[in-house]
Amino acid sequence: MKKRDFGWLTCLPFYGVHVAAVVGVALVGFSWRGVGLAAALYAVRMFGVTGGYHRYFAHRTYRTSRAFQFVLAVLAQSSIQKGVLWWAAHHRDHHKHSDTPSDPHSYRDYGFWYSHVGWILSTETEATDYARISDMARYPELRWLNNYHLVPALTLAVALRVFGGWEALVWGFFVSTSLLWHGVFTINSLSHIWGGRRYATTDDSKNNFVLALVTLGEGWHNNHHYYPRSVRQGFHWWQVDITYYVLRGLALVGLVWDLHVPTQETIDGDVGMQRDSSRRTGSRPSAARGTRDIAVEAPALSSPTLADAE
Ligand SMILES: [Zn+2]
Ligand SMILES: [Zn+2]
Repeated sequence: MKKRDFGWLTCLPFYGVHVAAVVGVALVGFSWRGVGLAAALYAVRMFGVTGGYHRYFAHRTYRTSRAFQFVLAVLAQSSIQKGVLWWAAHHRDHHKHSDTPSDPHSYRDYGFWYSHVGWILSTETEATDYARISDMARYPELRWLNNYHLVPALTLAVALRVFGGWEALVWGFFVSTSLLWHGVFTINSLSHIWGGRRYATTDDSKNNFVLALVTLGEGWHNNHHYYPRSVRQGFHWWQVDITYYVLRGLALVGLVWDLHVPTQETIDGDVGMQRDSSRRTGSRPSAARGTRDIAVEAPALSSPTLADAE
């Protein structure tokens, strides 16, 4: 059983941001300008999490330049979810051990609150496993950012206070960050609890339209666990995936390229059908094993030639 030691140095700022949001709004008052700023910074930083931390650093589902890679890392870390190498390494562990005791945030083993946020506050998960993220850890600028992971967020907070006053700091930072955290955290908690399952993966991942809207496309989590290499998580036109649309736009202007998408055959679930039949025979599902292998190999998809930032 995982130890549940929570360091006050991590917990205090986490709860402090929530308190600052509530007390701050009580002090500066409601304003549509504030709400708009909170929403804008929620959306932009959510993209940093989904398009950066997740679909680029953890899964390498597309390629980009070394400069834009750094921009993505800064944007991702402005959401205050620790260093980009820390985030991606833990996420690779999540796919490798989904919903088992070795999963850093297994709802099945550790319950809702731990899968939602407890795992981030736990001293158990503090270290970055550089071996797990060696393909990205070779960039010194990313290692620096990983070590000083609060720099982008603190810079944002100071800029909001200096250029927009207390109203901008309260709404654009404290309110926006509190909502952003819980929006992102649903991917690890609710996306393994609430929704439908299109593919018979070995984990509890779910597809959920509401969560897909909240997380700019990450709510198609069963699709994602089925085929983690895919840059798009909404496999069909009606599966709204705003992160994918933004990445398509960035590809149009040449900032990213080589977006990896599954074949129609894969989407149609041929692998899933095989998995179902093997499960019926009682043998270990070969395709389900494959699902995990794909996840583990996500970095390998990015073999040095494919993945190198240029
Ligand atoms: Zn998951
Ligand atoms: Zn993932």
